[in-house]
Amino acid sequence: MTIAKVWIEDGCIACGICEEICPEVFVVDDVSNVKLNVDFNEYASGIKAAADACPVEVIKYE
Ligand code: SF4
Repeated sequence: MTIAKVWIEDGCIACGICEEICPEVFVVDDVSNVKLNVDFNEYASGIKAAADACPVEVIKYE
């Protein structure tokens, strides 16, 4: 599966786990943000791990 899009839905509690797991893609301020100009496929395993680890399940990708 290739990843063309990554986004954060409403409800992020800014716990920081996604940035810890995959700082190449996620940066957490008030809420988590997806970095621009990133080749998501290079970090596919990190994106999936972060989505699985997110306690409120707001990390989405397709
Ligand atoms: S892991 Fe989920 S709740 Fe935590 S900062 Fe990332 S998106 Fe927000």
